[in-house]
Amino acid sequence: MNRSSRLFAAARQIIPGGVNSPVRACMAVGCDPIFIARGQGSAVTSVDGVRYVDFLGSWGPLLLGHAFETVRDAVCSAMERGASFGAPCEDELRLAELVVNALPSVDMVRMVNSGTEATMSALRLARGYTGRSGFIKFEGCYHGHGDAFLASAGSGVATLSIPGTPGVPPAVVANTFLAPYNDLEAVRRLFSSHGPDIAAVIVEPVAGNMGLVPPSPGFLQGLRDLCDAHGSLLIFDEVITGFRVSYRGAQGRFGIAPDLTALGKIIGGGLPVGAYGGNRAIMESVAPCGEIYQAGTLSGNPLAMAAGIATLEELRRRDYAALEERVEAFCRELEDLFRRKGIAVHISRLASMFTLFFSSAPVTDFTSAKAADSGCYARFFRHMRDNGIFLAPSAFETAMVSFCHTDADFNATLEAALSFAG
Ligand SMILES: *Cc1c(COP(=O)(O)O)cnc(C)c1O
Repeated sequence: MNRSSRLFAAARQIIPGGVNSPVRACMAVGCDPIFIARGQGSAVTSVDGVRYVDFLGSWGPLLLGHAFETVRDAVCSAMERGASFGAPCEDELRLAELVVNALPSVDMVRMVNSGTEATMSALRLARGYTGRSGFIKFEGCYHGHGDAFLASAGSGVATLSIPGTPGVPPAVVANTFLAPYNDLEAVRRLFSSHGPDIAAVIVEPVAGNMGLVPPSPGFLQGLRDLCDAHGSLLIFDEVITGFRVSYRGAQGRFGIAPDLTALGKIIGGGLPVGAYGGNRAIMESVAPCGEIYQAGTLSGNPLAMAAGIATLEELRRRDYAALEERVEAFCRELEDLFRRKGIAVHISRLASMFTLFFSSAPVTDFTSAKAADSGCYARFFRHMRDNGIFLAPSAFETAMVSFCHTDADFNATLEAALSFAG
């Protein structure tokens, strides 16, 4: 038994499933997780000393790769000044300025500790501000583990929500209306039957949690128009896309201004941070300016702010288009490789993200994502990990490429894929 297996066995005794977040357990891909000892640039090294090219990127935050020098130094020097004060510090203002300057739709921003907190708080704000209870979300979009978001469609009736997990009372998701991603007509129908009760539409502007699914042309603009017509707020969950699909997020890339934006992942540079922001009138409804309560003992934590500032200051200077071109070229080569093998794949890609769907049909929503062969993905995941390439341990996730990934990393990945038998 190697050290990773021993640690996992011990962890399972005192941590549910041996992990602090379920997908890490690798159950969907039929193997045990590997414990990581350290990461540097585009690679991680296991506790057994095995090195992997890392396409997980901590699920999104590490666009600069692991232990990026200025991020590491900023966190170390913040620690020397003290870990937390529970009183304002200057770096909270600096990170807020970076966010507000990057996102034109955001006049004011509130820091929280995770993406989950960001979306929960944005939804509470939308409900409090509009005085309405209902909201629309899309099947296959993930907005963290807040109760109201954990709904799935019941027996094909898209408008009836049932809780997606025990522990969420049906009443809590009774106001969660579901529509298929990229299906504007379904959203229009929900608005015509429930319009006056709909506080908000929340959407991943590029879906990253059913595998990568880009928005169809006109989808986001259509949502913007429907929200305007019905007095509802449009919430972009940019926890993945913020500072990834462009420095100005998906809203900058597609030119659509949401009313509220949820952020996380990259803005913490690997430390636990989330944020939500929007226009001044709405954000001033948040306590203590307004009545809508939201708080956090460690919100705006100095270490996390330092990591976020160092990350955004570096990203501001980076060439996103060049990275996207390299990822695009790599995905084309990977697609060709599978075509030559006669294995049907569809590689969905956008910016520095991609998902390999074992499917001959394009993937446009959760139904088509689920139609892909996830058993084949599981075999692919294990094959690649055995060959030094660490992908996301589920068919419904997105590979995250960083600015550190080299051509040698891409070639090693193609090399490993070449010996995959299907
Ligand atoms: C990861 C993620 C969240 C939740 O963020 P946590 O920091 O894990 O709570 C919310 N929305 C999206 C789109 C995400 O990808």
